[in-house]
Amino acid sequence: MLSVVIPIYNEEGLIDNLVKQTVSAMETIDTDFEIIFVDDGSKDKSLQLLLDCKKKYSSIKVLSLSRNFGHQAAFTAGLEHAKGDIVCMMDGDLQDPPALFKEMYRKITEENFDIISGKRSGRKGKTSRNFYTFLFHLMFKNITAIQNMENTGNFSMMRREAVNALLQMKEKVRYLPGLRAFIGFKQGFVEYVRDERIEGNPKMSLAKLFILAADAIFSFSRFPIRLTLTLGLIGTIVFMFAGIYVLIAKILGFAIVGWSSTLLSIYFLGSIQLVSLGVVGEYVFRIYKESQNRPLYIVRKFFDEDTLA
Ligand code: UDP
Ligand code: MG
Repeated sequence: MLSVVIPIYNEEGLIDNLVKQTVSAMETIDTDFEIIFVDDGSKDKSLQLLLDCKKKYSSIKVLSLSRNFGHQAAFTAGLEHAKGDIVCMMDGDLQDPPALFKEMYRKITEENFDIISGKRSGRKGKTSRNFYTFLFHLMFKNITAIQNMENTGNFSMMRREAVNALLQMKEKVRYLPGLRAFIGFKQGFVEYVRDERIEGNPKMSLAKLFILAADAIFSFSRFPIRLTLTLGLIGTIVFMFAGIYVLIAKILGFAIVGWSSTLLSIYFLGSIQLVSLGVVGEYVFRIYKESQNRPLYIVRKFFDEDTLA
């Protein structure tokens, strides 16, 4: 069986379209399927609309979370409830075409891949947002050991073994595309052009997008720590020479060391220290989150085959 996991947060305007397109894409694939919609605490009519669709299509299940836990937590919740031997992940805004699942499925079953990710060969839509994504992938590729993840997102299909490996990683701060690249297995790609969302505004605000990028970088790289260490070392060397200069000036008697150099060095050192504290803080905060060990999401109700809405 094939499972599709789709997170939904305030998407009432596009649910009908989404359900129709996804169901008809899945029907072209020669296997049983379930579609799990994870309602990530939507405040609009999304949940009700999903439950209405569930009455029409027996393949639809709805996992309702107790509040908004965020995109990555919603995906994780769906993956943990999926029963399929092969599991797909897709955003709920139809930026990724469900019709590609057929090709992904073919690659997995015929060419023996374990994981197929959608790779964006281009993007339509708002350019500033795309530019941030481009910058993020450029940085991520260069400062982490994770390769092969460039221009992929959540849109993907995985064999059960890979899904289980992914779910074994219990970290609270998670970036699924990175983890998916991290677990290994035989990975392949399907290229596509990413569309604009068909309706409404992005539900990942820019702030959420930046936090996700920070999570990705801090959990897969020690570059920020290295950078502060390097800055600290450079500072130390520079000020060692400055100290020697001051001493010589004092001995030779031409020491009119003005306030400007003093102030500059205080500012310089002070800001390096603040930045370093901030970077350490980011790691400490994430360690703290992990050690609290709170659940990643809380289920309000799972509407599966047996539940009547
Ligand atoms: N989403 C979610 N919880 C959130 C934010 C978003 O489940 O807190 C869902 C949203 O409904 C959509 C998907 O995640 O189906 C991707 O969101 P969006 O299109 O806003 O993100 P982007 O395409 O900019 O990455
Ligand atoms: Mg989107």
